[in-house]
Amino acid sequence: MELWYTEEQTDNVRLSLKVKNHLFSDQSDFQKVDVFETFEYGRLMTLDGLVMVTEKDEFIYHDMIVHTAMAVNPAIKNVLVIGGGDGGTVRELMRYKHIERADMVEIDQMVCDVARDYFPTISGDLDNPRVNLSYEDGVAYMKGKENMYDLIIIDSTDPVGPGEGLFTTEFYTDCFNALTENGILVNQNESPVYEQFAKEAIRANAKLRKIFPIVEVYSAAIPTYPSGFWLFGFASKKLHPINDLQADTWNSFGIKTKYYNTELHKGAFALPSYVKEYIANG
Ligand code: SAM
Repeated sequence: MELWYTEEQTDNVRLSLKVKNHLFSDQSDFQKVDVFETFEYGRLMTLDGLVMVTEKDEFIYHDMIVHTAMAVNPAIKNVLVIGGGDGGTVRELMRYKHIERADMVEIDQMVCDVARDYFPTISGDLDNPRVNLSYEDGVAYMKGKENMYDLIIIDSTDPVGPGEGLFTTEFYTDCFNALTENGILVNQNESPVYEQFAKEAIRANAKLRKIFPIVEVYSAAIPTYPSGFWLFGFASKKLHPINDLQADTWNSFGIKTKYYNTELHKGAFALPSYVKEYIANG
């Protein structure tokens, strides 16, 4: 009998992946965690029935959520990751030898444990000595932090369940205060194609714009996320993602990436007209 994983992306759209095995399933204190072995995308982790990572296309998301900011401020030394339990974001950060420390605040230990057991190519740096991993709510963690981080990456789930508080004005204000003078915040910003996601993305962006002087949106093509077209937010106190791009410095690091490069960087901030319109009206 054929086995399929089916995700209800909206009430009217589903994504199905043919599955070899259902390797893991458990309910944590926060969400249901599942791992499947798929035919096309390698191993897949879902949280509450939604795709988080697959072995085949995770490089796109993790390249874009890390290297884009690193190329705008290649001197970044202290980083905070909120969420990111699969470990892909800290794996990419650890490729920069000059990053001194990455604090990572993940609410759900089960996600990290499952990543360690089933996704060794993604989770390998969760126990890197430069990564300081704690299991707590990112919203509570951010309270009262000042001038601590050059980069904050919000590698969160969608704005429902435990991830909801990571899309609020209060939280973004705490992030602003926790950033250094050249600080950058990057967040995953949902898909513009389906209304329910687009609404959240626009709202999140409008909140960021109230707090940060520079806010831009960039995109990437991620096949297993709803619509395959995904947005990220870039917010900064001082640095503009295109005008301040340090392409030569970033390229001199010699970091070999499968998706990101400094040419694509410029293109990623050039948005389709309907997305620009959405954001402008947000
Ligand atoms: N790449 C995924 C996507 O966009 O679909 C998201 C990555 S997944 C690793 C997001 C992580 O955020 C999950 O492990 C989840 O447990 C964590 N998370 C959700 N809410 C959180 C919160 N309030 N504080 C810290 N981590 C949180």
